[in-house]
Amino acid sequence: MEAPRWPHVTEASDGTLTLAVAQGVTSSVVRALADDAGPPPPFSVRSFAPLPATARGERPITVDQTNHSVIVGESVVVKWFPRPVRGRHPAIDPLAHLAGFARTARPYAAIFWADALVALVTAYLPEARDGWEWCVDEAAGGGTDFAAEIGRLAAELHLALATPSEIFPDPVRLPPPGAGAAPAYGARAEEALRTALTLTDGADGAWLAARAETLRGELAPLARPVRTPLIRIHGDLHVGQILRWRHGYAVVDFDGNPTVAADDGAAFQPAARDLAQLATSLDHVGQVAIRRRSADPARVAGWVAATRAELVGAYTAALDVAGRPELLDRSLLRPFEIEQECRELIYAARHLPRWRYAPMGVLRSWFA
Ligand code: ADP
Ligand code: MG
Repeated sequence: MEAPRWPHVTEASDGTLTLAVAQGVTSSVVRALADDAGPPPPFSVRSFAPLPATARGERPITVDQTNHSVIVGESVVVKWFPRPVRGRHPAIDPLAHLAGFARTARPYAAIFWADALVALVTAYLPEARDGWEWCVDEAAGGGTDFAAEIGRLAAELHLALATPSEIFPDPVRLPPPGAGAAPAYGARAEEALRTALTLTDGADGAWLAARAETLRGELAPLARPVRTPLIRIHGDLHVGQILRWRHGYAVVDFDGNPTVAADDGAAFQPAARDLAQLATSLDHVGQVAIRRRSADPARVAGWVAATRAELVGAYTAALDVAGRPELLDRSLLRPFEIEQECRELIYAARHLPRWRYAPMGVLRSWFA
């Protein structure tokens, strides 16, 4: 048997890490994990569930992605982090907590180099397409049935995150009695608005500047004391993280924001933040369908209104059935949506200028 091959990690003099994964290494690592062969130090493995014996053969995932995912034997996905970050990673405990949650790709293992997370190993979901594909098809074709399903999926995720486990015995933070201190949400959202106004130039910038006061007014509820319980949320919940696969829908990509430390109070958020982001992603899908699929704007507007209503209706109904309606404070939805659009504009300005049309199209549709 050939010796297992592992990736190369190099450490720059400033301490930053870079990971290089040669061809064939991913399948070799998966074989070593399935055989329970210990990794060469300083690599280590945290196992969530035993790996299946996989066929040989690997192929990269080629859709737009932040990291580098490789499918091995059509049964396992290894997501490699090209720039591993040292220190405790916020994704690990939520993955362990969600071990019994059926509607995600089953986590098998996390691979570390010293204290830096270098890879997550999960089950491969056959025939998976992400929402930037399947949902844009729905927008172009006018289909709305999916919206209630993903609303229920989001509710099930939040209910699972709000249910105690050995990992998170205390997963819900209740609001302080009486008028507690206002959280930093208002200031954070205002800062996003200010930055979006600064970074968006040209006619779009002028349009935004003319509506700055209206937008600021929409953020006002975020400056009030929180009345909603706080839970660990997904943190980057949009349709691109919802896969439609052979047996339905699944939510993936829990490693959203490595700049939020696991124990940081910021890990606890109102569920409304996730739901707001998911809802605005339907608006973004609509903009994509108009631009890339020549969908009719008026019909898309109707589709967005219908799918949003279904999404939020199914989400709240699922919380009601579970006896946890208090997890959603609807008054926070709109302000979080406005903040999200500001974040999309900032992201477009800093990283992806061709994306600006989407949040601008959404804002123009909201504040015609
Ligand atoms: P990134 O952090 O790079 O965005 P994701 O976890 O969102 O990584 O995965 C990127 C893409 O890979 C997804 O949009 C999807 O197309 C595909 N993918 C991710 N996980 C799976 C899986 N378990 N099964 C099948 N495809 C997957
Ligand atoms: Mg992703």
